[in-house]
Amino acid sequence: MLNKTLVEKLKKIQTPFYFYDTELLKKTAATVAAEAKKFGYTVHYALKANSNHKILNILNAAGFGADCVSANEIVRAVECGFNPKHVAYAGVGKTDKEINKALDLEIFTFNCESLPEIENINHLAAQKGKTADIAIRINPNVDAHTHEYVTTGLEENKFGISEWQFNEVVEKIKSLNSVNLISLHFHIGSQITDMKVFETLCKRVNEIQKTFESLEIKLPHLNVGGGLGIDYKNPDANPVADFKSYFEIFNKNLNLYDGQKLHFELGRSIVGQCGSLITQVTYVKTGLQKSFVITDGGMNDLIRPALYQAYHKIENLTSTKAEKSYDIVGPVCESSDCFAKNEMINETQRGDILAIRSAGAYGEVMASQYNLRELPKAYYSDEI
Ligand SMILES: *Cc1c(COP(=O)(O)O)cnc(C)c1O
Repeated sequence: MLNKTLVEKLKKIQTPFYFYDTELLKKTAATVAAEAKKFGYTVHYALKANSNHKILNILNAAGFGADCVSANEIVRAVECGFNPKHVAYAGVGKTDKEINKALDLEIFTFNCESLPEIENINHLAAQKGKTADIAIRINPNVDAHTHEYVTTGLEENKFGISEWQFNEVVEKIKSLNSVNLISLHFHIGSQITDMKVFETLCKRVNEIQKTFESLEIKLPHLNVGGGLGIDYKNPDANPVADFKSYFEIFNKNLNLYDGQKLHFELGRSIVGQCGSLITQVTYVKTGLQKSFVITDGGMNDLIRPALYQAYHKIENLTSTKAEKSYDIVGPVCESSDCFAKNEMINETQRGDILAIRSAGAYGEVMASQYNLRELPKAYYSDEI
C-alpha cells in the first residue's frame, strides 16, 4: 500500500498526520454495495467510525445511508449529501435538542434504547404535530466475543431494551399517538471476527421476531447493526473484509417476512483499513531490557491502543535494516501512551517515518488536544 513514491511524498508533510488511501476506500465501498445488493440489503455507514468530510463524500457517492449517534453527526451527514430519509439515529442519551433536530430533518428512524426515551420522543413529536418512526433497540444478550469495551449486546451493558421489558414497551407504544414502531434494531458490538457470532445473532433475532409476532407485531424493517471486524495484523493481505460471507450468513440464517427490509450499520469494516497515522521518530532510547522508539504522534492522535489495548501493525517506511524489537511510545505524559510493546520493525533511528496501520476507524474522530497538542491533519492519496 505504501510504495516508494508515496513515501517520498509523505516525508515532506509535517507529522503526525492521518493518511487515507481513497482508492482502497472506494474499492471497499464498492464491494460492500455490490455484496449487499445481491440480497437487496440496505447499508447505513456508521459515522462515528470516521466523520471526516472527504470520506463522507465518497461514502455518500457509494449510495449508503447513514447511522448516527448524535444530532451533530446527522447534520454532518446531511451536509455531505446523505438523505435524511436514510439516517438511523441511535444512542442511549439523546437530548431534547438532538431529538428536535432529528424530527425537523425527518430522519428514517430513532433507534430507541429505553422506555423513558420513547415517551420523550412521543412528547416532542406531538409538540411539532409530527409522528416519529422508531425502532426498538433490543439487547439480545449475545456475546460478541470481542473486547469488553466494545461489547454492547449483553444484559449487563447500558444499551438497548431487554426481553423481560418487551410486553411493557409494546403496550406503551400502542398507547402513544406520535410514535410509529417500524423496526427492531440490534447492535451487539464491534471488531467481531468470529463469524459464528453473527449466526448466533440471526438465531436470536428469529426468536425475538417470533415473540413480537405473539404480541401481534410484524414490522416492515429489521436492523442488525454493524460490528464486522478487520484484520489489524495483516492489513496488506486482507485490505477488504469478507463482506460476501458476512451478508451470506444473514441471508442463510435470518427469517425475514415477505417484503421486510433488512438494514445494516457498518463502520469499522468500511473505513478501518484505508487510514494510517504517519508519525516521525523523535528519539530512540536504549534501555537495559528493551529499546523505546519515541514518536511525535501520541495517544491524543490515536487512542485505540490506550483505550482498548488495541493492536495496530506498525511499519518503518524509511529503514530497510534488519528487524528489531521495540516498544513504540508517544510523547504524552501517560504510561498508557504506548502504541505497541515488543513490536518487530526495521531497525530504527531518529528521523525515521513510521506508519501505524489500520487507523481509518475510531482514529481521527477520537483525537484530542490533551497536553495542548495540535489535532492531527488529514491527507489523501488522490490529493498529494
Ligand atoms: C458503533 C455502531 C455501529 C458501527 O459499528 P462498527 O463496529 O464500526 O461496524 C453500528 N451501529 C451502532 C448503533 C453503533 O453504535
